[in-house]
Amino acid sequence: MPSPLENRPLRVAIIGAGPAGVYAADILTKAERDFEVSIDLFDQHPAPYGLIRYGVAPDHPRIKGIVNALHKVLDRGDIRFIGDVTYGRDLLLSDIRDLYDAVIFATGANDDAALNIPGEELEGSFGASRVVSWYDGHPDVPREWPLNAKEIAVIGNGNVALDVARVLSKHADDLLVTEIPENVYEGLKSSPVTDVHIFGRRGPAQIKFTPLELRELSHSRDVDIVLYPEDFEFDEASDEAIKSNNQVKTMVNTLTNWIVEEQDTGASRRLHLHFLQSPVEILGEDGKVVGLKMERQELQGDGSVKGTGEFTDYPVQAVYRAIGYFGTEIPEVGFDAKRGVIPNVGGRVLDESGEVIPGLYTTGWIKRGPVGLIGHTKGDALETIGHLLEDHAELKPAAHPSEDALIELLNERGIEFTTWEGWLALDEHEKALGAAASEAGPVQRERVKVVPREEMVKVARSADVPVA
Ligand code: NAP
Repeated sequence: MPSPLENRPLRVAIIGAGPAGVYAADILTKAERDFEVSIDLFDQHPAPYGLIRYGVAPDHPRIKGIVNALHKVLDRGDIRFIGDVTYGRDLLLSDIRDLYDAVIFATGANDDAALNIPGEELEGSFGASRVVSWYDGHPDVPREWPLNAKEIAVIGNGNVALDVARVLSKHADDLLVTEIPENVYEGLKSSPVTDVHIFGRRGPAQIKFTPLELRELSHSRDVDIVLYPEDFEFDEASDEAIKSNNQVKTMVNTLTNWIVEEQDTGASRRLHLHFLQSPVEILGEDGKVVGLKMERQELQGDGSVKGTGEFTDYPVQAVYRAIGYFGTEIPEVGFDAKRGVIPNVGGRVLDESGEVIPGLYTTGWIKRGPVGLIGHTKGDALETIGHLLEDHAELKPAAHPSEDALIELLNERGIEFTTWEGWLALDEHEKALGAAASEAGPVQRERVKVVPREEMVKVARSADVPVA
């Protein structure tokens, strides 16, 4: 008997409307195939774009380009966006199985990796992703952020550490040109910060920054960059990396030029870059952070480091660990707690015994871990979609595959989802807020983010476009 899938569009649910989910939807829509597809792209937030909206610093020049590209994909109208719906709460796996022939989990990595050193629980010790969410106007973080530290430590030598250190050391007025919400501006405005220290545990040739992001550090007004010549150690592996990798070479040049140029201009704020310092303990008094104990490291020849037994206590009142994201476990799907990913082979989700579960797929950071830039996410989606297409004939057809069936279920449950038209309304609203702020304030603002979730949903639902 021919499969019912031969006579109707393949129904696919994608959970997560960040870059991973949007790329997967786009690639599936455009793929060469001899059957139709019908895709619903879900997000737990009322707005799409995931970590591009809620995970990248607002003053980052390249995010706009990525947002525009994702917008174009969703604006074509052949992928249905359903926002403010949480998988595992509003929709269970059994619902998804009932309504769709296949599901792709693209839920990302939103937690912070733990340092596992004493003092991590002190007041003033934070995971970087939380403050990133705050300054990016994430609807689910408190509006107030405790910015009372004069001296701040940021642990890690990746782009997230750079983002956090740059935003926290900038003068708030210089962020007014970005889309930061009013509460973020007010919070940063009252920050008494004078010194932000970024600590890398390895050497200058082992940094995980990217050249553009590193150079951007020196563009902040009234912020001096401070480097320490004794940190500039290079072992054999460092020399090899500088020789063979252009990015490393460019960044080491940037850093060494900064030392030569002596960046001390008497600015009111300083951004210190330390290398070969590994965190040992966050020091506290009365439950609050008062310092950070670091151990000097020595390069071992292969780019790895070993502690030297030389310790330094840095007086800081806040510590942000930016040592990598960690995948967030999602209900009813397996989770590799060591790697923070959904167990899979090439995007096909595995069960506890390592067998492929038909119809379940994954892509993006929850598939491969929180590493790599946006281009890798595209490659990832290509692989997953390739496997989904290969499996097409074997998929178990859903019992209720019509597009209306999902809407009926959400309505029945009283779940107030948002739509693409709703997002367009919210987008317009944010831009209007930006225009109003420009008229009233000293700088041109393209957009000001609307923040509390209820307000976002209210604005989005005011579009009130019936969903087919
Ligand atoms: P990342 O690039 O993996 O960097 C993590 C850093 O933390 C590394 O320097 C690592 O050092 C350090 N680290 C790990 N464990 C540590 C420990 N126990 N103690 C001290 N240091 C430790 O991670 P990320 O910064 O979270 O970025 C994730 C991805 O997003 C990256 O691909 C990044 O480029 C991308 N991203 C890009 C942008 C952008 O603007 N382009 C912005 C944000 C994020 P080791 O090398 O020694 O392990």
